Amino acid sequence: MRKREVSALLIGRFQPFHNGHMEVIKSIAGQCDRLIVGIGSAQLSHTFENPFTAGERHLMMSRAFHDEGLDNFFLVPIVDINRYSVWVAHVASLVPPFDLVFSNNPLTRRLFTEAGYDVQQAPMFNREVYSGTEVRRRIVEGGKWEELVPSGVAETIREVRGDERLQEIMRDHSPEATI
Ligand code: ATP
Ligand code: MG
Repeated sequence: MRKREVSALLIGRFQPFHNGHMEVIKSIAGQCDRLIVGIGSAQLSHTFENPFTAGERHLMMSRAFHDEGLDNFFLVPIVDINRYSVWVAHVASLVPPFDLVFSNNPLTRRLFTEAGYDVQQAPMFNREVYSGTEVRRRIVEGGKWEELVPSGVAETIREVRGDERLQEIMRDHSPEATI
């Protein structure tokens, strides 16, 4: 029989996955045997807040994880159901069994705690710049966004022309844009 392993769950939208996410994942990985990362709002893409598809996010994250030498992980896309009372059951139906949940989000913490899971605070790293919002802002403004993300993420974004996509989304939604 296999020895009992401790599995930890972390959920985010990862639009895109950045160095802050990588740091928190490295620190969590040291506290568990298996890491499950839920790719939230998986159905969303091609908007300013959510530019990348679940598949693109999956690719950027698996490249970044492999480059860090992490291999015992599962990346699972999770679509929104917009019904908080059954959200934990929805997540649990999609991912491998887990014991621990790392989150700073008050609602996520409440829902998993109510469902009986062990919820722990996730450390924050350089949040002023390591945020999805800041990476998207820099991409749109033509700033230095690559330094905020692991190289596998930058490679994926360029490969799918995600930077052009985001710039175009902003142009199309600017007040000067016509239908
Ligand atoms: P956005 O600005 O688009 O909301 P984000 O950086 O907050 O992006 P999310 O995908 O919303 O990223 O966050 C997923 C989880 O990652 C958050 O709940 C948060 O706990 C964690 N996280 C985000 N930024 C950092 C950071 N700099 N350091 C550690 N953890 C972070
Ligand atoms: Mg966020």
